[in-house]
Amino acid sequence: MSEKTRSHGRKSISASLKPRELMTHSPRLAGVWTARLITLFPDAFPGVLGESLTGKALKDGKWQLETTDLRPFGIGKHRNVDDTPAGGGAGMVLRADVLGRAIDQTLRGARGNLPLVYLSPRGRRFDQKMARAWAQCDGVTMLCGRFEGVDQRVLDHYNIQEVSLGDFVLTGGEIAAQAMIDATVRLLPSVLGNAESIEDESHSNGLLEHPQYTRPPEWMGRPIPEVLMSGHHGKIAAWRQAMSEDLTRQRRPDMWDAYQARIRKDG
Ligand code: SAH
Repeated sequence: MSEKTRSHGRKSISASLKPRELMTHSPRLAGVWTARLITLFPDAFPGVLGESLTGKALKDGKWQLETTDLRPFGIGKHRNVDDTPAGGGAGMVLRADVLGRAIDQTLRGARGNLPLVYLSPRGRRFDQKMARAWAQCDGVTMLCGRFEGVDQRVLDHYNIQEVSLGDFVLTGGEIAAQAMIDATVRLLPSVLGNAESIEDESHSNGLLEHPQYTRPPEWMGRPIPEVLMSGHHGKIAAWRQAMSEDLTRQRRPDMWDAYQARIRKDG
């Protein structure tokens, strides 16, 4: 019996299923920003992306999410997706052939400008600039690693861009993927209604955001800074700018230097 049709007492699964059967069931919307995830844990999606602003936008079809379950592409009776590292050592590595089939299936029918990304602690550090660039694309395709990671040949063959969430090691790429998708989706013009709040916030204009306050006007003996209660828009803007600059100078000398260099150049 060929591997494709072998059944094991439950519904037979094979890599020859149509892409849509291996993916989420909602109909594909044309021309909508699409996150495609290749993962061993499709149930982890949409996860927290299904809540609040990103969740509402997802329900409203302002962006969409497709998962490709890696498992059905696995080898043999147990649909193995990983194997021991060549050369020995601890852990397991996701197989190139399994990943290759899953990637081909995922990319089939995907059109447009779609970066192909592997979530990886070795990658370039994700930042607001990357989120902005991805928001300009038609979507993004992300490969979530597990175990010790993926066979290098897959990264080389597909010329996959490695992107890191930060200098720490997660057990899998799914949380990193959700963080990056969140940061990107909220920049889609159709998603975050109030564009001004994007322009102002940390990392958008090269500065960290000023402190925020809301009611009650006094809490635990701490009043809201008087200027914010003054109704004087000019003074409030100046105070916020000064606080932004102070915070950035103290906390992020790297950002502060870059900000000053830009101001010198522009002005
Ligand atoms: N052995 C690898 C780490 C594997 S961690 C190494 O030392 O580089 C398992 C998976 O978690 C990785 O394949 C990757 O997809 C994901 N992951 C771990 N840390 C990450 C990070 N900082 N950013 C993005 N993905 C990460």
